[in-house]
Amino acid sequence: MTVLVVGAGPAGLAAAHALARVGEPVTLVDKAQRLGGAPILSGYAKLIPSGEWARDAIGGMVRRVQEAALVRVATTTTVSAFEGEPGRFTARLSDGASVPCAAAILCTGFTHFDSINKPEWGFGTYADVVTTTQVEQMISSGQGVRCPSDGRKPERVAILLCVGSRDRQIGREWCSKVCCTVSANLAMEIREELPQCHVYIYYMDIRTFGLNEDLYYWRSQEEFKVKYIKARIAEVTSDGNRLVVKGEDTLVKRPITIPFDLVVHAVGMDPNVDNRALAEVFGVGLQHHGYLARGSAYAGMALSTRPGVFVAGAATGPETIDDSIAQGEAAAIAALGVVRTSAVQAA
Ligand SMILES: Cc1cc2nc3c(=O)[nH]c(=O)nc-3n(C[C@H](O)[C@H](O)[C@H](O)COP(=O)(O)OP(=O)(O)OC[C@H]3O[C@@H](n4cnc5c(N)ncnc54)[C@H](O)[C@@H]3O)c2cc1C
Ligand code: SF4
Repeated sequence: MTVLVVGAGPAGLAAAHALARVGEPVTLVDKAQRLGGAPILSGYAKLIPSGEWARDAIGGMVRRVQEAALVRVATTTTVSAFEGEPGRFTARLSDGASVPCAAAILCTGFTHFDSINKPEWGFGTYADVVTTTQVEQMISSGQGVRCPSDGRKPERVAILLCVGSRDRQIGREWCSKVCCTVSANLAMEIREELPQCHVYIYYMDIRTFGLNEDLYYWRSQEEFKVKYIKARIAEVTSDGNRLVVKGEDTLVKRPITIPFDLVVHAVGMDPNVDNRALAEVFGVGLQHHGYLARGSAYAGMALSTRPGVFVAGAATGPETIDDSIAQGEAAAIAALGVVRTSAVQAA
C-alpha cells in the first residue's frame, strides 16, 4: 500500500526517493505548483555548506523523484481529511481523490519570517531594505545585487542577523540555525561580485555552527574583508539620501549610526502558517512555538504524536537542508516499518 508524503521540499523528496528505491509506492502531495520546497520556490542561490547552486542540488532531487515510476506526484494539492489507523489510513485530497495509505510523512516545512513584523527595522518603509531571500534571488537570477529603488550597485551593505529569531518581543524565542552561515556566505558573494562594496554584518552572537566556523566566519573576514559589528539595533531610517542603521555597539557600549545603500534582513524560519490546520487534519500535536511536535526525542526521530504519522525536516523546527534530508530518510524507514508490519498482519 502507498505511503503518503506531504510536502516536497528536501525532506519530502528524500523520503519519497528512499521509499521508491526499496520498491514502495508513494503519493507525494504539495500545495505549491513546483516541487523542491523553499530552496526552489524562494530561488536560493549557492547553498551552504556545499557551495552547489540550489537549482542543481535540489533540482536533482526533484528530477529523481519525478522519474521514479513508483512516485505519484500531486502538486497544487493539500490533504483535507485523514482517517484510520496505521496500515489502514485513508487520505482525502483537495482535488477530491481518496488515497488509501499505510502511513503518512509530514514534511511541510516552515514559513519565512515576514519582516513587516519588525517595522522599526525599515522593511516595507524603504525599498532598499530587503531580506536574505531577496538577495538570494538577485544572485540566482543572474541580475546581481542591486538597490531595488533605482537599480544602482550598492557601495555599502548592512546585513542584520536574527530578524524574526531570538526575539522575545515578537514571540520568537528560537535560533533559526542557518542564517549566520547563510549571511556570511551572502556577504562573500556580494564582495566577490562588487569588490568595492563594504559589507557589514550586525550580530548578537555568531552561530556559524559545526564545521562552518572557519569556512564562513573566519574566511569572510580574513579573505573577503567583511566587517562584523556586535550591536543592538534600534532602528533603520533614512537621511533622505542613504539608509541609516542606528544602534549601540555592545562591545564598546557606544551609540553607532552608520549609513548604507542596502540593508538586508537575515530572516528566520517561522512555523509553517498551515500547522494548526495540519495538526487538526492529521490529529498530531504541536510543540509550544507551533512547529509539529515530535513524539519522542530518542525512540525514533521521525515519530509524531500519532502512530503511523511521521514528521521530518523544518516542519519540526529550524533545520538545515542536510538534516532535513536525513530526517526524511529516517521517516521513510519508519513508514516502511508500518507498511511491512501491516502486510504481515494482513497475510
Ligand atoms: C534565507 C534562507 C536561506 C537558506 N539557505 C540554506 C542553505 O544554503 N543551506 C541549508 O542547509 N539550509 C538553508 N536554509 C534552510 C532550508 O530552507 C531548510 O533547511 C529546508 O528548506 C527545509 O526543507 P523541508 O523539506 O523540511 O521544508 P521546505 O523546504 O519548507 O518544504 C516544505 C514543502 O511543503 C509544502 N507544504 C507546506 N505546507 C503544505 C500543506 N499544508 N500541504 C501540502 N504541502 C505543503 C511546501 O509547498 C514546500 O514545498 C535556508 C533558509 C533560509 C530562510
Ligand atoms: S543562526 Fe545566527 S542569525 Fe540565525 S537566529 Fe541563530 S544566531 Fe541569529
